[in-house]
Amino acid sequence: MGRIFEKIGRSGCAIEGPRRIEIGGGAYRGGNRVAEGAGFEPAIRFPVYTLSRRAPSTTRPPLRKSRPAQIRPRIGAHYIHKPPECKSFRKSSTLKLSAPAQSRPENSDARRFSGRGPIATRGFGRISGQMTEDRARYRAERGEETNQGPSHGFGSPARNEAEATLKSVADLVAAGLMDPASAEALRAVEARYGVAVTPEIAALIDRADPADPIARQFLPDPRELETRPEERSDPIGDDAFSPAEGLVHRYPDRVLLKLLSVCPVYCRFCFRRETVGLGKGATLSDEALARALAYVAERPQIFEVILTGGDPLALSARRLAAVAEKLAAIPHVAVLRIHTRAPTAAPRLVTAERLAALKASGKAVYMVMHVDHARELSAPARAAVGRIQSAGISTLAQTVLLAGVNDAVDTLEELMRALVRAQIEPYYLHHPDLAPGTGHFRLSLERGRALYAELARRLSGIALPSYVLDIPGGFGKVPLQQSHLEQDEDGGWRVRDRAGGRHRYPAGD
Ligand code: SF4
Repeated sequence: MGRIFEKIGRSGCAIEGPRRIEIGGGAYRGGNRVAEGAGFEPAIRFPVYTLSRRAPSTTRPPLRKSRPAQIRPRIGAHYIHKPPECKSFRKSSTLKLSAPAQSRPENSDARRFSGRGPIATRGFGRISGQMTEDRARYRAERGEETNQGPSHGFGSPARNEAEATLKSVADLVAAGLMDPASAEALRAVEARYGVAVTPEIAALIDRADPADPIARQFLPDPRELETRPEERSDPIGDDAFSPAEGLVHRYPDRVLLKLLSVCPVYCRFCFRRETVGLGKGATLSDEALARALAYVAERPQIFEVILTGGDPLALSARRLAAVAEKLAAIPHVAVLRIHTRAPTAAPRLVTAERLAALKASGKAVYMVMHVDHARELSAPARAAVGRIQSAGISTLAQTVLLAGVNDAVDTLEELMRALVRAQIEPYYLHHPDLAPGTGHFRLSLERGRALYAELARRLSGIALPSYVLDIPGGFGKVPLQQSHLEQDEDGGWRVRDRAGGRHRYPAGD
């Protein structure tokens, strides 16, 4: 007989409302508050509420039907375990604490730079050239990276990678990444949506493979001009929850702070594609930043500030330090989270200065990297991840489930294992949003759930992200488990939000 610890919250029975929980013939009451709190409060700090049971070691109970995906631990508390023998749920629940594997004490890197003054930089309001900042230091770092990684093949080794970013269809054709015959049809695409492919990403593209999953994510496609009726310019409803410029306050205890609107690369499925890209927005002015942070300072319930955008690591170290310094003065903000694609798409941006600037906030710092395919974890990317971890910053990943990129269980499994191997905890697997011109990336909820169910059968808890849907219109993220979904007669779906409201979601393919 073996002792099996099943993570009911993550992958087992739906725990919802005042129900009995049926597990392999046993039944338990309780746990509703934890489960509901988790489902309604998707945050990086929520622990997983589990039951332990005794069962034959060769027979796992059928606990993979659904999971309240949000109740994942990110700050020390890995699981709240309920001892199997306990009669009273409420009295006997125990909290088990352990340090996340990826958390490391501050090392010399962070300390080395923490005492330094700001580096030479440009004005806060300027975007072009921010990624070329710290050039001398980048070169020193790049020397290490390019020795480990593939040659990008664009220009001389001394050429700055930011300058070597391919920023137009013409650049992509000239680099041999696109067929010249397709250029004409793509002019309208590049006029509407940003195009940028860094040398690091270009080096990962297999030019001989017409279905290359890296190319599909970054090279423009004429189908981007086909907008479907269900698609929206603001698919997750940021605008409806924006109390101040650059700020989104959707959940009570956390805010998004959008500092800029540019990225080192432009993903063809970006959910903010109507507002992200050169010329689509500006860096948050000092005045707007002050207003946004005043809003945060006035609300003690705000526990976490999430820097997003655009890519926060495209900002200069000085700008990041200025933001971190202002956050440091808000004691109730405990967590600073950064959403970025830079570690894989532009690892040169992960500099000691930027990391030290973030750590100077004095908050618990989490870096959530956007990674969609295992090949993105190249040697330079892994080196960048190592720098982040060595600076004492926890590393998590979010992945978008994308048709033609990672919509195969073997591909997803390989990615999740590669992430865990690099001590990056898979956090979210996002169902793609209803962004304009992204229909060719979307798969149905049904298919996504089937893929996820198989993934859950294959992976351990630390390798399994939460599969979530951001309900269109700003109703928040929900785990894609049965308790949040009802199928309509016409094949579409009704998704239940955190407040119990129901929303239509199309059937898809
Ligand atoms: S990195 Fe993020 S914000 Fe930037 S284009 Fe890609 S998905 Fe959009």
